[in-house]
Amino acid sequence: MAGRKEIVVIGAGFGGLSAAIRLLLQGHRVTLLEKRDQPGGRGYQYQVNGFKFDGGPTVITAPYMFDDLFAQAGRKREDYFQLLPLDPYYRIFHEDGRHFDYRRDPADILEQVRQWSPGDVAGYERFSKAVRGVFDRFYPMTDQSFQRLPDMLRIMPDMLRMGLFLGMYQYASLFIKDEFLRRIFSFHPLLIGGSPMDTPAIFALISQVEKEWGVHYAVGGTGAIVHALATLFTELGGQLCLSTEVKQIVIKDKRATGVKLGDGTFLPADEVVCNGEIAFAYQHLIAPEHQHPLIRARLNTMGYSSSLMVIYFGTKKRYAHEGKLSHHNIIVADQYQRLLREIFHGRDLPRDLALYLHMPTITDPSIAPPGTESFYVLGLVPNLDARINWAEASQPYRDRIMQFLEDHYLPDLQANIIAEHRIDPLHFRDTLNSHKGAAFAFRPSLMQSAWFRPHNRSDQFANLYFVGAGTHPGAGVPAVFSSGKIVADMIGRG
Ligand SMILES: Cc1cc2nc3c(=O)[nH]c(=O)nc-3n(C[C@H](O)[C@H](O)[C@H](O)COP(=O)(O)OP(=O)(O)OC[C@H]3O[C@@H](n4cnc5c(N)ncnc54)[C@H](O)[C@@H]3O)c2cc1C
Repeated sequence: MAGRKEIVVIGAGFGGLSAAIRLLLQGHRVTLLEKRDQPGGRGYQYQVNGFKFDGGPTVITAPYMFDDLFAQAGRKREDYFQLLPLDPYYRIFHEDGRHFDYRRDPADILEQVRQWSPGDVAGYERFSKAVRGVFDRFYPMTDQSFQRLPDMLRIMPDMLRMGLFLGMYQYASLFIKDEFLRRIFSFHPLLIGGSPMDTPAIFALISQVEKEWGVHYAVGGTGAIVHALATLFTELGGQLCLSTEVKQIVIKDKRATGVKLGDGTFLPADEVVCNGEIAFAYQHLIAPEHQHPLIRARLNTMGYSSSLMVIYFGTKKRYAHEGKLSHHNIIVADQYQRLLREIFHGRDLPRDLALYLHMPTITDPSIAPPGTESFYVLGLVPNLDARINWAEASQPYRDRIMQFLEDHYLPDLQANIIAEHRIDPLHFRDTLNSHKGAAFAFRPSLMQSAWFRPHNRSDQFANLYFVGAGTHPGAGVPAVFSSGKIVADMIGRG
């Protein structure tokens, strides 16, 4: 084919897979290099004692993105993996033990708002309408590049007019009076590594994405999606190299000429797409003499997202039938604002816990041995800018979380555990090459979003591209999937 290029993609996360498949569909030769022994990145699936634990993403939204990609390849997504819609989307617990079921049906949500705080019904209705307006205006831009300043200037007047420079929590508070409801309708930035206090309200569109297309679960876990994408990639003729770490992006005359692997092998490329984090790439993959000092300085001074401890565990006892928990559960302490300050700006472990508890076997028992229950609990913690010594703090923090779950949600938990695995900020730094151990790359603040986020095409090297959470549009599976589309479109246009 005329114009057929040799393209290397570094990293097989959702961003890298999305870009790599689309580039194959354009007719290029694509080699996908992944340092871990399996693809998926944050979506890696761990296998422990017969349990399959999804490492990261569990809330699957915007399923049309997968459908569209498989359709472009002349396939049906359903032939590769199944999606099940979930309802409720989330069960959010108040500290007093009551909960709010965040459901698909707007009438159901309204009824729960009425029960929780009758004076907030009208405000909630206005809030819903406003969020739909945000979605209608800005969602179509989430798969467009924000490479040029005019792209940003075009959206600023509407953002200003709609009050979207406010933090998500402050925005929800314009409409809603009850403190717990304010939290419920502003928590979504936490899913992408931002604090509801300073993530601009334009990110409210994430909650509308859930309303439009639902929240889904992939049968077999998110790992089934990763497996399907990797299968599609190889079926289309792509070359997937696992356990293959790129050590250098080789630059000559302001162009990337290829990549160098750990064993010294040089792979030449016409275009290089990096799904590894941009800050890591500038620190470790691009030789200092080729780096523009301003870009390096900016990456050093940007704000990085929170990190996480995630404990994956299986129990010999089943808990689903007790009815207390749902598939996705959110549990945050009452001292909410203090908790957020300590997670996002603190130097030590937060005094209280902010937890997401995943119980997939309530929907899909096939991912665990018969008669058992599978969980993961995710605790938000500061990134490695804090002065926490994780080599020492990891085990006690794990014990604290498990004791809390045993005391409040999962009776006799610790006597019933038969499989366990754990990750903490050091995993993000050392295994996933994430600067400061940040779980979601840069925080989604106003000055780090859209044009202000590192661009999809390098400002320095015309044939080096970035996909994934550290570039536009940001973190979360739909966003990084879109970054793959943006980059493939750019390369396709030449
Ligand atoms: C615990 C957790 C839960 C989450 N839950 C959700 C959720 O429910 N829903 C949702 O939408 N999002 C969720 N997210 C966010 C989402 O998972 C991420 O934003 C997204 O998966 C990131 O994808 P990515 O392509 O940017 O990068 P990654 O997944 O990090 O992939 C990058 C890949 O590049 C590889 N790599 C890096 N450097 C090199 C190198 N030099 N050579 C070779 N390979 C390299 C890494 O090994 C990795 O496999 C969650 C994240 C975490 C951590």
